[in-house]
Amino acid sequence: MSSQPLPVVSHDVQPIVAKKPPVDSDALAHRDLRRGPWWQKIPAYKAVDEATFLDHAWQAKNSITKVAKLVETIQELVPPGFIEDLEGGMKRAPMSVRVSPYLVALIDWEHPFEDPERIQFFPLASRLLDDHPKLGLDSLHEQADAPVPGLTHRYQDKALFLPLDTCPVYCRFCTRSYAIGLDTDEVEKVHLRPNEDRWKRAYQYIASRPELEDIVISGGDAYQLRAQHIEEIGEALLAIPNVRRMRFATKGPAVMPMKILTDDAWLDALTRVVEKGRRVHKDVVLHTHFNNAGEITGITEAAMRRLFERGIMVRNQSVLIRGVNDTVASMTLLVKRLGHVNVHPYYVYVHDMVQGVEDLRTSVDTAIFIEKSVRGSTAGFNTPTFVVDAPGGGGKRDAHSYEYYDRDTGVSVYSAPSVKPGQLFPYFDPLHQLSTHQQRRWADPGEQKVMVEDALSKARGRAR
Ligand code: SF4
Repeated sequence: MSSQPLPVVSHDVQPIVAKKPPVDSDALAHRDLRRGPWWQKIPAYKAVDEATFLDHAWQAKNSITKVAKLVETIQELVPPGFIEDLEGGMKRAPMSVRVSPYLVALIDWEHPFEDPERIQFFPLASRLLDDHPKLGLDSLHEQADAPVPGLTHRYQDKALFLPLDTCPVYCRFCTRSYAIGLDTDEVEKVHLRPNEDRWKRAYQYIASRPELEDIVISGGDAYQLRAQHIEEIGEALLAIPNVRRMRFATKGPAVMPMKILTDDAWLDALTRVVEKGRRVHKDVVLHTHFNNAGEITGITEAAMRRLFERGIMVRNQSVLIRGVNDTVASMTLLVKRLGHVNVHPYYVYVHDMVQGVEDLRTSVDTAIFIEKSVRGSTAGFNTPTFVVDAPGGGGKRDAHSYEYYDRDTGVSVYSAPSVKPGQLFPYFDPLHQLSTHQQRRWADPGEQKVMVEDALSKARGRAR
């Protein structure tokens, strides 16, 4: 047998020709999370060690609800005039104040006026703007679509169940400011306290409507439900044959992520419901609410990893807020950081037409502009849909899908054929983004009518 010479294998490495230039470090900023005892820069937390700061009960007990407690906590850090400004803002706010130490420590107290967390949680009189004349409490008409108090049935196959009316923090922009938190000088709330009889009526209604497949358990906030209640509600809903999907909604991961690390009873109860759901082929997930990339720290990452290890899917719903995430850079960073910690960015809501927070709203045009740039910056399944929750109960509409939009008057009009066929739902951009001429028109009730009628009639001509 003649032996053949072996082929010569070249070990020369061929250089790889890059088709794209290398990215600069800013493009990877979503991976840079705050780590270490960063909270110790706050005077009252100087001696707070990691175990204490991660204790959810310590966080709840030390949350700020009064100006005096804030002063005691941040001491000399704030610039002169800030506290008086805050006292004035709180007198006019529709929401009471409750802010966790986690959030207090995230705020840059040397520059609190521009800080995204301060903007969301502490109202300042000097920043408030006049309300648009079309704003109102309960702008989404949740109560009008509620067959049982605390159960809104708007979409054919989905219901919103509100078992309670408290949250770990109170957000200035809350769409449910008609019900959530304590009464304020401005608003007497419709209370939805935890009540098992009310909950049973909700389950009976859900069971009586075979078309209901998808239940959102919100509030208030599922973080505030006791472990035993998470399990009771989960079991009751999983036992209803027509229910196929459930989402526990909580802002908790964004404002107090340590609860997922240290409240084992709560997390175990949620895990058992998710696992039971999986055994009976029903989808149980967590929906949360991060608005700014700064809210995602090393603590959040550890918490989200714990959920991921237990197979609990987390989706995020943000609100588009002026000064918080209304630039392409801030929204892109948020979206990429959410993906980095295994949270799916699901929706970005154009700010609801809530009274008393006009300084926070942006326009539909801003949402469309930002969406255009965010899309393509990461994978499609990790890209949020930008929606307008149509005032008056039309449900969520893709922000681009207006029937008519007059950028001068700020009136956009949406239809919702599968939710409320034949109806039109106008949304109104904030006055401060309109020209002085248009702002003057909105001050005149006769002109308001003309602008709204004009937009509705043009939308009627285009709606299919
Ligand atoms: S956590 Fe949600 S329900 Fe509670 S105040 Fe904030 S936005 Fe409203």
